[in-house]
Amino acid sequence: MAPHADALAIGDGVQLWPEILRDFEHGKLKPRYQATFERPYALDPPPRRDLAPRSNFLTTMSLIATRGCHNRCGFCYLSTDGLRMPYRVREPEDVRRQFAANGQPYAVFIDNNLGSRRDYLRELCRALRSMKKSGARR
Ligand code: SF4
Repeated sequence: MAPHADALAIGDGVQLWPEILRDFEHGKLKPRYQATFERPYALDPPPRRDLAPRSNFLTTMSLIATRGCHNRCGFCYLSTDGLRMPYRVREPEDVRRQFAANGQPYAVFIDNNLGSRRDYLRELCRALRSMKKSGARR
Protein backbone atom coordinates (compact mmCIF):
# COMPACT_ATOMS: atom_id res chain seq x y z
CA MET A 1 0.00 0.00 0.00
CA ALA A 2 2.86 2.44 0.85
CA PRO A 3 6.11 0.94 -0.48
CA HIS A 4 8.22 3.97 0.49
CA ALA A 5 6.83 4.66 3.96
CA ASP A 6 6.76 2.80 7.25
CA ALA A 7 3.59 4.63 8.26
CA LEU A 8 1.10 6.98 6.67
CA ALA A 9 -0.46 9.84 8.65
CA ILE A 10 -3.61 11.19 7.03
CA GLY A 11 -5.44 14.19 8.43
CA ASP A 12 -4.77 16.36 11.45
CA GLY A 13 -1.14 15.81 12.44
CA VAL A 14 -1.56 17.58 15.77
CA GLN A 15 -3.81 14.75 16.93
CA LEU A 16 -1.78 11.99 15.31
CA TRP A 17 1.78 12.93 16.19
CA PRO A 18 1.74 11.98 19.92
CA GLU A 19 0.23 8.59 19.07
CA ILE A 20 2.77 7.98 16.32
CA LEU A 21 5.68 8.85 18.63
CA ARG A 22 4.29 6.63 21.41
CA ASP A 23 3.83 3.69 19.04
CA PHE A 24 7.30 4.24 17.57
CA GLU A 25 8.91 4.29 21.03
CA HIS A 26 7.20 0.99 21.84
CA GLY A 27 8.16 -0.53 18.49
CA LYS A 28 4.51 -0.76 17.51
CA LEU A 29 4.26 1.62 14.58
CA LYS A 30 1.03 1.05 12.65
CA PRO A 31 0.98 1.28 8.85
CA ARG A 32 -1.74 3.93 8.86
CA TYR A 33 -2.98 6.72 11.15
CA GLN A 34 -6.00 8.82 10.40
CA ALA A 35 -7.73 11.80 12.04
CA THR A 36 -10.27 14.36 10.94
CA PHE A 37 -10.08 18.13 11.37
CA GLU A 38 -13.37 18.19 13.30
CA ARG A 39 -11.92 18.29 16.81
CA PRO A 40 -12.30 21.68 18.55
CA TYR A 41 -9.18 23.73 17.92
CA ALA A 42 -9.07 24.68 21.62
CA LEU A 43 -7.94 21.11 22.38
CA ASP A 44 -4.71 21.54 20.43
CA PRO A 45 -1.84 22.27 22.82
CA PRO A 46 0.07 25.52 22.25
CA PRO A 47 3.40 24.97 20.48
CA ARG A 48 6.59 24.69 22.58
CA ARG A 49 8.07 27.94 21.30
CA ASP A 50 10.84 27.72 23.86
CA LEU A 51 12.35 24.84 21.85
CA ALA A 52 13.03 27.05 18.81
CA PRO A 53 16.39 28.84 19.08
CA ARG A 54 15.40 32.49 19.31
CA SER A 55 18.52 33.78 17.52
CA ASN A 56 17.71 31.73 14.39
CA PHE A 57 14.39 33.45 13.74
CA LEU A 58 13.11 36.98 13.30
CA THR A 59 10.54 35.92 15.88
CA THR A 60 9.54 32.59 17.37
CA MET A 61 6.23 34.13 18.36
CA SER A 62 4.07 32.81 15.54
CA LEU A 63 0.41 32.50 16.40
CA ILE A 64 -2.41 30.58 14.75
CA ALA A 65 -5.75 31.83 16.02
CA THR A 66 -7.87 30.06 13.40
CA ARG A 67 -7.55 27.02 11.21
CA GLY A 68 -9.11 26.47 7.81
CA CYS A 69 -11.12 28.96 5.80
CA HIS A 70 -14.70 29.43 4.66
CA ASN A 71 -13.61 29.76 1.04
CA ARG A 72 -12.29 27.09 -1.30
CA CYS A 73 -10.19 28.92 -3.89
CA GLY A 74 -9.21 26.52 -6.65
CA PHE A 75 -5.43 27.12 -6.28
CA CYS A 76 -5.40 26.68 -2.49
CA TYR A 77 -4.50 23.44 -0.71
CA LEU A 78 -7.75 23.82 1.24
CA SER A 79 -9.65 22.85 -1.88
CA THR A 80 -7.78 19.56 -2.22
CA ASP A 81 -10.18 16.77 -3.15
CA GLY A 82 -11.40 14.94 -0.08
CA LEU A 83 -10.02 17.46 2.43
CA ARG A 84 -12.71 18.51 4.86
CA MET A 85 -11.34 21.22 7.12
CA PRO A 86 -14.01 23.37 8.76
CA TYR A 87 -13.15 26.84 10.01
CA ARG A 88 -12.09 26.54 13.64
CA VAL A 89 -11.07 29.25 16.09
CA ARG A 90 -9.20 29.49 19.37
CA GLU A 91 -10.73 31.50 22.18
CA PRO A 92 -9.33 35.05 21.87
CA GLU A 93 -8.35 34.91 25.53
CA ASP A 94 -6.30 31.78 24.85
CA VAL A 95 -4.46 33.55 22.00
CA ARG A 96 -3.85 36.54 24.29
CA ARG A 97 -2.47 34.24 27.01
CA GLN A 98 -0.04 32.58 24.58
CA PHE A 99 1.17 35.97 23.39
CA ALA A 100 1.50 37.34 26.94
CA ALA A 101 3.39 34.26 28.18
CA ASN A 102 6.12 34.96 25.65
CA GLY A 103 8.30 37.98 26.33
CA GLN A 104 8.60 39.04 22.68
CA PRO A 105 7.28 42.46 21.67
CA TYR A 106 5.48 41.33 18.52
CA ALA A 107 3.92 38.25 16.93
CA VAL A 108 3.21 36.99 13.43
CA PHE A 109 -0.15 35.40 12.66
CA ILE A 110 0.23 32.54 10.19
CA ASP A 111 -3.46 31.63 9.84
CA ASN A 112 -4.85 30.53 6.48
CA ASN A 113 -7.43 33.30 6.65
CA LEU A 114 -7.50 35.20 9.93
CA GLY A 115 -10.38 37.38 8.76
CA SER A 116 -12.66 34.62 7.52
CA ARG A 117 -15.11 35.41 10.34
CA ARG A 118 -15.22 39.13 10.96
CA ASP A 119 -17.02 38.85 14.30
CA TYR A 120 -14.25 36.58 15.57
CA LEU A 121 -11.50 38.86 14.25
CA ARG A 122 -13.10 41.82 16.04
CA GLU A 123 -13.24 39.85 19.27
CA LEU A 124 -9.62 38.79 18.88
CA CYS A 125 -8.46 42.37 18.26
CA ARG A 126 -10.33 43.50 21.37
CA ALA A 127 -8.62 40.81 23.44
CA LEU A 128 -5.17 41.83 22.15
CA ARG A 129 -5.67 45.58 22.18
CA SER A 130 -4.68 46.14 25.80
CA MET A 131 -1.35 44.32 25.39
CA LYS A 132 0.46 47.20 23.67
CA LYS A 133 2.30 44.70 21.45
CA SER A 134 2.46 44.45 17.66
CA GLY A 135 1.06 41.82 15.37
CA ALA A 136 1.69 41.18 11.72
CA ARG A 137 -0.05 38.93 9.29
CA ARG A 138 2.00 36.97 6.80
S1 SF4 B 1 -7.02 30.49 2.65
FE1 SF4 B 1 -7.06 32.11 1.12
S2 SF4 B 1 -6.56 31.08 -0.80
FE2 SF4 B 1 -7.16 29.47 0.66
S3 SF4 B 1 -9.35 29.15 0.34
FE3 SF4 B 1 -9.13 30.68 1.95
S4 SF4 B 1 -9.23 32.69 0.91
FE4 SF4 B 1 -8.80 31.09 -0.64
